[in-house]
Amino acid sequence: MSQYRNILLTIDFSEYDEFVANKARNLAKQLNAKLSIIHILDDIPMPDTPYGTVIPLDEDSSYPMLEAEKAQLKQLADQLAITSTDRWLIWGEPKQEIALFAEREKIDLIIVGSHGRHGLALLLGSTANGVLHHAKCDVLAIRLPD
Ligand code: AMP
Repeated sequence: MSQYRNILLTIDFSEYDEFVANKARNLAKQLNAKLSIIHILDDIPMPDTPYGTVIPLDEDSSYPMLEAEKAQLKQLADQLAITSTDRWLIWGEPKQEIALFAEREKIDLIIVGSHGRHGLALLLGSTANGVLHHAKCDVLAIRLPD
């Protein structure tokens, strides 16, 4: 395995983000790799916005929900000391946009949280599973605490 140079941390603004983020930060430090952070916006209406649109983080919008998402991303990225050019907010469908972004930005490792799922949830699939199937690079699934 060659060394990872360009790691992408995916966050969904859940209670588990810090857990996954700490592991990502430690790994990036150990490998001396660049760490980028991404959130895919999929939970607020964005009419007339095509999937894959990068939401500018340095421009204010008049949309409070969007500003709240930006603030959450900023807070975690600040904690991890991730530079502003390596923070991404993209509108679309998480597993697809994460995989597309990773390819475009030459990411060599994607980090996702993974719940131990059972029953219907397992059948419906998870973001971690979806990323694993769509991505062309390696994917590290961090098992989330129960
Ligand atoms: P899920 O399978 O939806 O419970 O999500 C598990 C993991 O997938 C999270 O811990 C994140 O790493 C990633 N993830 C889920 N949704 C998103 C999203 N909208 N944007 C970025 N990453 C996400």
